Amino acid sequence: MSFFKKMEIPKSEERNEGSSSPTEHIRCLILGSGPAGYTAAIYAARANLKPVIYQGLQPGGQLTTTTEVENFPGYPEGITGTELMEDLKKQAERFGTDVRWGMATKVNFSSHPYKVWIDDKTLITADAVIIATGATAKYLGLESEEKYKGSGVSACATCDGFFYKGKDVAVVGGGDSAAEEALYLAGLCNKVYLIVRKPFLRASKIMQQRVFSNPKIEVLFEHVTKEIYGDGVVQGVRLIKHQGQPDETEVDLKIDGFFLAIGHTPNSDIFKPYVETDETGYIITKGNTTHTNVPGVFACGDVMDKTYRQAITAAGTGCRAAIDAERWLSEMGL
Ligand code: NDP
Repeated sequence: MSFFKKMEIPKSEERNEGSSSPTEHIRCLILGSGPAGYTAAIYAARANLKPVIYQGLQPGGQLTTTTEVENFPGYPEGITGTELMEDLKKQAERFGTDVRWGMATKVNFSSHPYKVWIDDKTLITADAVIIATGATAKYLGLESEEKYKGSGVSACATCDGFFYKGKDVAVVGGGDSAAEEALYLAGLCNKVYLIVRKPFLRASKIMQQRVFSNPKIEVLFEHVTKEIYGDGVVQGVRLIKHQGQPDETEVDLKIDGFFLAIGHTPNSDIFKPYVETDETGYIITKGNTTHTNVPGVFACGDVMDKTYRQAITAAGTGCRAAIDAERWLSEMGL
């Protein structure tokens, strides 16, 4: 007897909750359409699991907000994030994946088949669920940041950078995202301040070199953001230099755009009542597999990977999730 046959999966006869129309049943449901979701779909479709993928809030995932992807193997000249995701989608569809608009807004994994609500209205049931919902950009949590969201505050330079052509902007963060955003904006803007809270960058060496050698980028180490100000739209930002040190001072930058690049939060909230996560919300998977604590529910990509968070590693875990799902379904006779 296999490990999973020993696990009790509560069976539910209920296929129709609060609706007069019959509930659709899906054998392999994939939530999220980044590299993890589409790779899972390619493998699941080729294994004849007839996967259905709901694309989520950001079809194509985070890569659609980036410019050039230079590190995805197989593209010696690089490829744009949008093109890469379009290719992955086409590849998934070629083998029969049903790609749909819509976002999972609620789940009930307390009995099997599992229930998933799409856009708060459509209830579907699924034998296996692959969670590939990715992660979302973090904000600093300042009141003024909230006030100017969409009026000068953005978490996506490639989406909004165009509006700041020839202007002065600031980017917060010291990782690869911040370096990438600063470089992208330097190609459009007059001046880019990179606001870094530590005395060093966390970004990879190659990205650091590009940042330091770009004459339009000025790196402000050991600066934290106090508040963004303006008059309907952003006009500047007040920073604190050397916070908590004897030489602490306030710095005022006149800028038109303020870009966040301080990391991401995993999109795992709706699963938390059932699926185990760590203290920062990343879904916990078992050992070297994509199994969660709920039998038949698998997690892949940025929602479960806080270490690597790369398109290629997300794709790798997507492949593993589909293989795990296929084996589990077959072992369970589903
Ligand atoms: P990271 O977690 O690597 O970096 C976040 C940065 O934001 C850190 O410098 C951190 O500072 C800073 N930060 C966090 N919170 C705050 C705050 N409240 N105020 C000020 N600064 C803050 O996230 P990234 O999104 O940059 O990267 C995520 C992963 O994706 C990494 O593995 C990265 O390598 C990868 N990536 C790769 C790219 C590429 O290869 N082209 C492009 C983009 C990302 P501190 O250092 O002090 O903690």
